[in-house]
Amino acid sequence: MSIELLANFSYIVSAGLFIYGLKMLGSPATARRGNLLSSLAMLIAVIAGLSSKGIVSYEFIIGGIILGAVIGALAARLVAMTSMPEMVALFNGSGGAASLLVGWATLYLADTTGVAAVLGDAGLIKQGISTFTAITVVLAILIGGVTLTGSLIAYGKLSERIGSAAIVFNGQRVVNSLILAGLLGSGVMFCLAPSADSQWLYAVIGLSLALGIMAVIPIGGADMPVVISLLNSYSGIAACAAGFAINNNILIVAGSLVGASGMILTNIMCKAMNRSLANVLFSGFGAVKQGKAIEGEVKPISQEDAYYILEAASNVCFVPGYGMAVAQAQHVVKELGKILEANGAEVSYAIHPVAGRMPGHMNVLLAEADVPYEQLVEMDDINPRIENVDVCIVIGANDVVNPSAREDEDSPIYGMPIINVDQARTVFVLKRSMASGFSGVDNPLFFNENTRMLFGDAKESISGIIGQFG
Ligand code: NDP
Repeated sequence: MSIELLANFSYIVSAGLFIYGLKMLGSPATARRGNLLSSLAMLIAVIAGLSSKGIVSYEFIIGGIILGAVIGALAARLVAMTSMPEMVALFNGSGGAASLLVGWATLYLADTTGVAAVLGDAGLIKQGISTFTAITVVLAILIGGVTLTGSLIAYGKLSERIGSAAIVFNGQRVVNSLILAGLLGSGVMFCLAPSADSQWLYAVIGLSLALGIMAVIPIGGADMPVVISLLNSYSGIAACAAGFAINNNILIVAGSLVGASGMILTNIMCKAMNRSLANVLFSGFGAVKQGKAIEGEVKPISQEDAYYILEAASNVCFVPGYGMAVAQAQHVVKELGKILEANGAEVSYAIHPVAGRMPGHMNVLLAEADVPYEQLVEMDDINPRIENVDVCIVIGANDVVNPSAREDEDSPIYGMPIINVDQARTVFVLKRSMASGFSGVDNPLFFNENTRMLFGDAKESISGIIGQFG
């Protein structure tokens, strides 16, 4: 069997494993194996891709795999669970950077006559850059560049290195329109006379990097779930374009899978926030609003008093949010759930689709603590029966239980569906202070008649209550 045939066969195996692995990610029970299968598929694809073209010697392939594996293993081991969303943002950005570089490298060997060395099936071949290749190169660079800098801004916002609020200024719309027009113009000029040293190519690279920054800075904190999934999708589309540029089938397949699944996720996130994609992307324009002023009195509660109420409760619902991830409270939450069940209470865990800092964040944490899957309830299922819940225990959630999203038309998060914990008989809110959530919006829930604030680190507070049960 020739090496080319072997490579193509490996690509088919990889594509099959990618699709199967993706399907397995649909359930927590099979997700780990799905992840492993997809990693294996990527390894096969990388080895097949590099060896078939004969452009890199085996020492480089092995060296690259070892270096990549060490970086990946260190990142997986050292990055805290709470920083996973930032890591995902950086991974998206790396995908965009890779596509930009692959697109650029396709032209890198171009000689002054505009003839490029292109990767053909039989290795390096010299041929003119076709218009089709030029267009795919522009797309790989454009989408890759936007993904790279957009993801870096998303990383900054998620890690709170830069403020999560929308950054808006006068004339932003005009500046963005000029960048877009410049990008389109430069892209067309490049395609008319494609060569590696074209000034238009540099313009496309520079303007796409600028567009990524400009596109993400006006998007406010609460909309970041949509941005993350959209950038994830972009990284796939950029890889797909790069695949066409270098004529590599597996890159096209893998890029399409990431692009399509990212789009589906973006749609799910938009629905979860009751926003259209256009509204998320462009609503940052204009003044930043901060809803109505909140009046009322906060009623703190001690761990001991919380215990007395829980001891008598027959229906308890945990509502986790980002603070549970920060406190790493999922194991003690599960322990308290078991104790309450043994005490005769019905226990459930209500999951908001955008709770935490990445899609599925709460599901991952609760699965890690082995919370029975059947006890997880989606927002749409718990809300109609939340009035029958004796105690809702809000663990480090804030935006996803903020009633102003339902009631205050002036609030920046108005219209986002929330878990209506304020309609339960009693609400315990476990957090360390009166600080606002990721969106920076104050929360009237904390001042409600039926709300009790249990201040402190969520893990310590829950452990304290467990201690009371003795
Ligand atoms: P929020 O960010 O709204 O609130 C988290 C709360 O946790 C804070 O108010 C904080 O209060 C509290 N907290 C932090 N540390 C601890 C601790 N150790 N113990 C107890 N409490 C703690 O979280 P939500 O999950 O309610 O909402 C998610 C937000 O993030 C939404 O705005 C969403 O749009 C956004 N987002 C979601 C993404 C996703 O994909 N899921 C991605 C990006 C953004 P205090 O400091 O007082 O303790």
